[in-house]
Amino acid sequence: MSNAALSVITSDSPEKWQEILADLITDPKELTEILQLESTGSVNSRLARSGLSEFSLKVPRPFAQRMQPGNWSDPLLRQVWPSQLEDEVDCSLSEDPLQERSFNQATGLLHKYQGRVLLTAAPHCAVHCRYCFRRHFDYAANTPGKQQWRETLSQISRDSSISEVILSGGDPLAAGDNLIQWLLTQIDSLKQVTTIRIHTRLPVVIPQRITNSLCQTLSSVDSKLVIVIHCNHSQEIDSSVQLAMQKLRSTGATLMNQTVLLRGINNDAETLVSLSHKLFDMDVLPYYLHVPDRVTGTGHFLVDDQEGLKLIAKIRSILPGYLVPQLVREDPGSNSKTRLG
Ligand code: SF4
Repeated sequence: MSNAALSVITSDSPEKWQEILADLITDPKELTEILQLESTGSVNSRLARSGLSEFSLKVPRPFAQRMQPGNWSDPLLRQVWPSQLEDEVDCSLSEDPLQERSFNQATGLLHKYQGRVLLTAAPHCAVHCRYCFRRHFDYAANTPGKQQWRETLSQISRDSSISEVILSGGDPLAAGDNLIQWLLTQIDSLKQVTTIRIHTRLPVVIPQRITNSLCQTLSSVDSKLVIVIHCNHSQEIDSSVQLAMQKLRSTGATLMNQTVLLRGINNDAETLVSLSHKLFDMDVLPYYLHVPDRVTGTGHFLVDDQEGLKLIAKIRSILPGYLVPQLVREDPGSNSKTRLG
């Protein structure tokens, strides 16, 4: 990274990320104009008729800047563009493929796996990924106020088997610093909890979110802190993301990445190898390569297990073992992710 580039992005303005979050691209027409996309009439370019009202277009401008102008097949654009392919009817898909509603034990709390619970710390995200497995999730019913958080945390404290609390969402880093600090302090004070894990896409889509004050809060956590970023393509990583990861590394957190395997976006070995290298350059370990969940409206992204297995075999023949992510699938009701291969 050049010194000039660094000096531009190291200026730490806590409000900057909130300004970006308040100024997302939500109008498909604006996005096509910014990217100088011609209306080609292809099915990729045509807009979905369904789903847009409940899962609108949301693209942070720093993320759009990494898209290639004039290219409908750009891998970043395809992750966020609500294409007509979402309208295809496939009865094998479901709005709640992981049956999360049955694990939603209290407001903001999902208890799926032995020993760990997940809190939906923020009811929204900075980006709407069209493949999202929670695109139909009832966030309105899972946005606790402080009193409800206290009750939820008290419920966790009564279960001595829980040693790890996962902050997910939505995107937990879309919450304000005050709530994040309060939640981390509360969780940290639970005697049996040894690890706090944060799953987030914000360091990738709005790297300006990783402010010095957020890093101070993260550094103050006594539990082991694990931050799992969600990055699907090496084109998502630029100097601003590298700086964000450098800052997160300075908090002492263990950094890992989870990728969703997506047709037409990253389902080739060259792309995944490049992603692993770029992640490792930032001291981020490739952790999971997740077969997409079978969510209504996302059939065009699906990659089957056999194709995933072939890809992993190819990647394994190129990369050292520590750079090969585990290929996994989530099966509803199973007590852990299912490892493939
Ligand atoms: S950031 Fe994660 S939770 Fe939010 S829309 Fe994307 S995949 Fe879904």
